[in-house]
Amino acid sequence: MELQRTIKYEADRVKGFGREIMSVPGCEQLESCIQCGTCSGVCPLSIYMDFSPRQIMAMTRSDFKKEVLSSYTIWLCASCYDCTVECPRKIRITDIMYELKQRAIREGYAPKGFATPALARSFYHMVHENGRVTESSLVIKMLLKSGLSNALKTGLGMWRLGLNLIKTGRFSLKQETIRRKDELAQMMRIADQSDIDRLNGNGASATSEKGAHAQH
Ligand code: SF4
Ligand code: SF4
Repeated sequence: MELQRTIKYEADRVKGFGREIMSVPGCEQLESCIQCGTCSGVCPLSIYMDFSPRQIMAMTRSDFKKEVLSSYTIWLCASCYDCTVECPRKIRITDIMYELKQRAIREGYAPKGFATPALARSFYHMVHENGRVTESSLVIKMLLKSGLSNALKTGLGMWRLGLNLIKTGRFSLKQETIRRKDELAQMMRIADQSDIDRLNGNGASATSEKGAHAQH
């Protein structure tokens, strides 16, 4: 029988990951975490998480990139900001969770078949393309991307609710979109480019580029 190793060693780390996260505006304070556990204590969802928020903070700082980015914790975080409000070191834990989610999607670590990253991806693409979110197609895309068995199970469980929402006009099947899509495409190009620049360590030039565009 093959033994499953659970202990993490120095060699499992991706050197520089913690520094990268802490270089993102708003995430700098992570460095001063004292591992008091207040964030885990107040988090209403920590009992469902594979790693508590305190553990995620420690693992991020210690460069355990793969474990952090492929964890379910970052997707279970409901962005309630309780931890951020209570942290004695004023660490913006919720914003760090957002940064980790973005990286997990971008770098292909997000758990496959889990509904929340599938929802985030579909939401992003819909806003990117149409400037609006249509709830009905968002739900359908999320279900299909989170796996066929998941889609069937959830779809069958909720068909009655869906039908009632359609009947009462609260769940439109018509794709919503904005008119001046060319302006949206231009905005998205600038936002995407600044993200790429930031990841490449050209944050200052990205900021000044954004500023220059804003002045025009
Ligand atoms: S509450 Fe703040 S200082 Fe305490 S463990 Fe969580 S992140 Fe660290
Ligand atoms: S913001 Fe996320 S991690 Fe923080 S308390 Fe709320 S659910 Fe937990």
